[in-house]
Amino acid sequence: MSETSTQKPDPFDFLGLDTLLSDEEILLRDTVRDFVDKEIKPNVAEWWDEGVIPHEDLARKFGELGMLGMHLEGYGCAGTSAMSYGLASLELEAGDSGIRSFVSVQGSLAMFPIWKFGSEEQKETWLPRMAKGEVIGCFGLTEPDSGSDPASMRTNARRDGVDWIINGSKMWITNGSIADVAIVWAKTDDGIRGFIVPTDTPGFSARDIKKKASLRASVTSELAFDDMRVPDEFALPGVASMRGPLSCLNEARFGIAFGAMGAARDCYETALRYSQEREQFNQPIGSFQLTQKKLVEMMVSVQRGSLVALHLGRRKDEGTLSPEQVSFGKFDNVRNALDVARTARSILGGNGITLEYPVFRHMANLETVITYEGTNEIHTLVMGQAITGLNAFA
Ligand SMILES: Cc1cc2nc3c(=O)[nH]c(=O)nc-3n(C[C@H](O)[C@H](O)[C@H](O)COP(=O)(O)OP(=O)(O)OC[C@H]3O[C@@H](n4cnc5c(N)ncnc54)[C@H](O)[C@@H]3O)c2cc1C
Repeated sequence: MSETSTQKPDPFDFLGLDTLLSDEEILLRDTVRDFVDKEIKPNVAEWWDEGVIPHEDLARKFGELGMLGMHLEGYGCAGTSAMSYGLASLELEAGDSGIRSFVSVQGSLAMFPIWKFGSEEQKETWLPRMAKGEVIGCFGLTEPDSGSDPASMRTNARRDGVDWIINGSKMWITNGSIADVAIVWAKTDDGIRGFIVPTDTPGFSARDIKKKASLRASVTSELAFDDMRVPDEFALPGVASMRGPLSCLNEARFGIAFGAMGAARDCYETALRYSQEREQFNQPIGSFQLTQKKLVEMMVSVQRGSLVALHLGRRKDEGTLSPEQVSFGKFDNVRNALDVARTARSILGGNGITLEYPVFRHMANLETVITYEGTNEIHTLVMGQAITGLNAFA
């Protein structure tokens, strides 16, 4: 029997999870971490405060790093493993959930449907430029009256000769007003179809949603389609049902299971360092039992959630990951990340409510993350159905 190690655990990797990663995965993870440390963390509080992001600059840099559509094969995409995509999402969200959303939407929600359901010509037309960050995409599924129940959408497309005429609107669309191309999901006589719509198409308009108190370093828009005429070549030929948008969401949710742990890790690390420096009653606040309990709870949450994410990553690469297991990761990791952020905020006291530290920003962002890509209630119902065999959606 081997002996227990006498080596003290690393406070930033208590269970030694790095040993579960290959050298190649660690290299990629460290490259993204370095990028986030240099390009995102020093600037993101200001972007968040002003409600802007330098999207063209970021898109180009993400393109150069090979991070856009990185887990897709061919057409100028990096073709990494799912695990690598997850690790990149985690590091990006340690910077900011809005920045991770930018990359998730481009890769999993805009490029993935073209890659999966598009014609060869559509793939050649769009994917190489999207991988380089020259073309920004968005994904229009949610509508003002159709959120958790996207199948109830009203946006419709009807045939008119060789063209389609699309009418309707979409709500809460990440990158909507800065996108060059929108994936628009619409009801048709054949079922729900996806359309690749250049945003300069007559009849397309986008308006930003202002006064957000969450995900401020991210553009969120409303889209409107007014008798928008598009040729049949814009329709994705490979799917005509809710399987289309849902399979895209599944890709993005997988990244969120990792990403949420990035935000949580940044909160834990910030609180740990703060607790060692900040003194009250002539002692570092980290010496108080109540603070140590909070730090340990946070550390355990981050390690446990990261372990879940890594397990999902391995299963996805093996081809054994089910959408219900993705729901597990999205559901549990995001709610735990939110708890970690709230606890970290309490350790920072008054400083915790400012943008001088990343914690409040992460906490506010995670309110979006727990809502989009299926609310936690919806993921509860997905898993509830999986374990009972009973559908409780309606
Ligand atoms: C910042 C941001 C960015 C987004 N980006 C995109 C994007 O790029 N593209 C896109 O298409 N969408 C996007 N969304 C939309 C997002 O996916 C929806 O907000 C989400 O699906 C919830 O829909 P809703 O807001 O209409 O809430 P609703 O569906 O109205 O839900 C309200 C509440 O009711 C609960 N509820 C609903 N049905 C049930 C039920 N059967 N049982 C129990 N509880 C239920 C929900 O869980 C929630 O708590 C974004 C949202 C935000 C906030």
